[in-house]
Amino acid sequence: MKKVVLKPGREKSVLRRHPWIFSGAIASGGEEAGRGETVEIVSAQGESLGFGSYSPDSQIRVRVASFDPNCPLDASLVSERVSLAVARRGLSSGYTNAARLVNAESDGLPGLVVDFYAGYAVAQFTSAGAEFWKETIADSLMANVSGIRSVSERADVDARRKEGLEFKEGLTLLGGEEPPGLIEIHEGAVKLFVDPRKGHKTGFYLDQREARRTVGEFAKGRRVLNAFSYTGGFGLHAAVGGAKSVVQVDISSDAIALAKRNAEATLGHKYGETMEFVEADVFKFLRSCRDAGKTFDMIVLDPPKFAESKAHLMKAARGYKDINLLAMKLLAPGGVLATFSCSGAMTEDLFAKILAEAAEDAGRDFQIAARTSQAKDHPVSLAFPEGLYLKGFILRRI
Ligand code: SAH
Repeated sequence: MKKVVLKPGREKSVLRRHPWIFSGAIASGGEEAGRGETVEIVSAQGESLGFGSYSPDSQIRVRVASFDPNCPLDASLVSERVSLAVARRGLSSGYTNAARLVNAESDGLPGLVVDFYAGYAVAQFTSAGAEFWKETIADSLMANVSGIRSVSERADVDARRKEGLEFKEGLTLLGGEEPPGLIEIHEGAVKLFVDPRKGHKTGFYLDQREARRTVGEFAKGRRVLNAFSYTGGFGLHAAVGGAKSVVQVDISSDAIALAKRNAEATLGHKYGETMEFVEADVFKFLRSCRDAGKTFDMIVLDPPKFAESKAHLMKAARGYKDINLLAMKLLAPGGVLATFSCSGAMTEDLFAKILAEAAEDAGRDFQIAARTSQAKDHPVSLAFPEGLYLKGFILRRI
């Protein structure tokens, strides 16, 4: 097997079980390894540290999957990791029939994400190693997931380009039957259609499941604005939780069209009596509400990632402050702001600080009524803090 030898001192992060080895940490070796091929990782002192997948084009040159010199990275290890990740989930609660089955590095499978929607698994392979083991992974999913009908791939992920992997739109079937155009899932009483071919990520934001439930619990009797609604999840949970009215706002016409279908499936054909849909830019929409003197009793702000990396953090911070400040001003006394950041570079502390500054500028007092994070089927390895990216605050105006 090909070996990659690290520079002196660069074994430290591997010994701490961090799975990424950057190109600058490598002294020699690997050049002749194929994309995604398994290499042995060796310290400058010649000590074996484990095994990883080689990625010739990526700054993250090796992703470590085994930190044990006696446990090679091969098909049986990959297959076992998949079955262990699946076994950790369990869909027995009955609350939902959708789950993240594999959460990449945090499940010991760098670059592999697998989401499950009512029998249909949709995977993203965003590292050379995950791509290399694609067939093994698909076979293991088909063998280990109860009730599985198929495994498909979404390859329209930017991260694939950094790994020298093909970027491709649409859905590719890897095993089992072709999924329908829309897959119906549920979260409690909320029914949602997922578009596995064109929907965001693998089709839906499973990571916000617990936050959506929390928002539902706070919504009773309130006039709710769900900003950045996507297919309406937060707004539907609010409606089911007894909201007086809900306005769903998103810039994407596809998202709004699906949100309407979800509303009809969840609330029946009279959904329009309490739920309104607006295709608009949230920044402009919030300003127009302010200018018109409109207020809400609850606002959900779940914007897309503003900071792609630490380099964009300052600009992102301004964006978060702007929308939160606007939303805070639109909240009636006693109103609730459910606000989220999915930028990994933004820590929970910094986000709280930005919110405190926004509240100060808005001249309003808030208390933290609850905090939320990515759903439990998106676990974070202690050795891989990068796996934690989603945070949320439920703020109450007092
Ligand atoms: N809350 C959703 C996920 C939101 S994803 C859920 O729980 O499922 C972010 C959404 O913001 C996307 O649907 C995207 O279309 C929308 N979006 C991005 N920029 C926007 C803008 N400037 N104004 C309105 N919507 C925007």
